[in-house]
Amino acid sequence: MTLGPGKLCPTHRNILRRKSHRILRKKYNIGKIEWADKILSTLKNEIRTALRKQQGGRCYFCRRTVLVERKNAYESIEHYLDKSKPHYRKWAFSPVNLTISCHACNFQKSTADLGDNAIRASVALRSNAGSFKWLHPYFDDYHENIEVLPGWVYKAIGGAPKEAAAKALIVDCQLDKVETIEAHRHAASNYRVRLIELATRAINAGNKERAKKLLSYAKQIEEDSWKV
Ligand SMILES: [Zn+2]
Repeated sequence: MTLGPGKLCPTHRNILRRKSHRILRKKYNIGKIEWADKILSTLKNEIRTALRKQQGGRCYFCRRTVLVERKNAYESIEHYLDKSKPHYRKWAFSPVNLTISCHACNFQKSTADLGDNAIRASVALRSNAGSFKWLHPYFDDYHENIEVLPGWVYKAIGGAPKEAAAKALIVDCQLDKVETIEAHRHAASNYRVRLIELATRAINAGNKERAKKLLSYAKQIEEDSWKV
């Protein structure tokens, strides 16, 4: 995963800089179009695909493989600073405000405001804009601040540069809750079974290529490692 210590870089920046996309972003910023409008579908899909590749298919917050089914139902484009807040609308398409998260983390984060007054008043989204409540995907080093132990146990590293932000992420996102860990495990296990079922069906239908693809994904889920 290119999300290693301090290595996450916004490769989707080039997509956002494209002229046709710049026009759409401008329209969004002045309120002529909204996030859910169909006209943004292509742009959003391109961003999602780029982020998925960049993050190795993992959620930024919990680092688990995002279980992607058809139509990206299990994968959310996450706005670190919530786009529904008027003061953050201008950063809805800012490359350093976008990441991919799993459904569980997206749900826990919801519309939480992860900025402070200085950030809210800031013109540019930079690492020194203010104090971010959780670790920031592009400004902070995840593994310098959070240790992920076998069995998906998350620990803020004592004395780390962003220890408080690491703790806030773990607690607010409920990464420390046994139920969350179990829910993830169940979802992954069910998904693996489903993939194997589909692969069997594909073999019976003579579609070896599809079966191979499905089985390799099932294997990936099985091997999903916390050593990321
Ligand atoms: Zn997650």
